[in-house]
Amino acid sequence: MKHFKCPECGLPVAEGFTDLAYEVSDTTVTLRNVPAMICANGHSYVDGYVAENANRLVDRVVEDLTSFAKKMPRSSSTPRQIMIAT
Ligand SMILES: [Zn+2]
Repeated sequence: MKHFKCPECGLPVAEGFTDLAYEVSDTTVTLRNVPAMICANGHSYVDGYVAENANRLVDRVVEDLTSFAKKMPRSSSTPRQIMIAT
């Protein structure tokens, strides 16, 4: 891994894990423990390859959930929350 400085604050970043939250219609999808580069101020950056795969996963999950929800109507209109731990 090449040395990299935070574009936000200029501090060196270290390898770590972060959570990514996506909002799709009334559903919040949170990906937990996504590999990321994180600086001492807590700014986190996800690799383009990782972000691309995360987007694809979220699309799939929301699509599957939507077809599932059609067969199984919800009793309330509370927004859905999905947590995916990687
Ligand atoms: Zn920073």
